[in-house]
Amino acid sequence: MDADRSADVVEFFCPECEHRWTREYEVVHGQLPSGYLYEFFRLNRLPVMSPYFQEGGLPCAQCGNRVTGTLLQRRLWQRHEEESG
Ligand SMILES: [Zn+2]
Repeated sequence: MDADRSADVVEFFCPECEHRWTREYEVVHGQLPSGYLYEFFRLNRLPVMSPYFQEGGLPCAQCGNRVTGTLLQRRLWQRHEEESG
């Protein structure tokens, strides 16, 4: 499977209490033979939903409100940087 990987720094901003934080997600970007583009997200090495959709949002640490993330920075991984173990 041919896929590119990136590290996305995702920013979350809670509109309820104005708490702001960031998380770094590992993202695998790929394309099926049909042309369909897909993305897999991992946080702390666990597969998670996309943080850019409501379903994959994170609860605010201060008030528990579920917050959808926005992309702050995307850094493509070089092949030699791939994790070993
Ligand atoms: Zn909050």
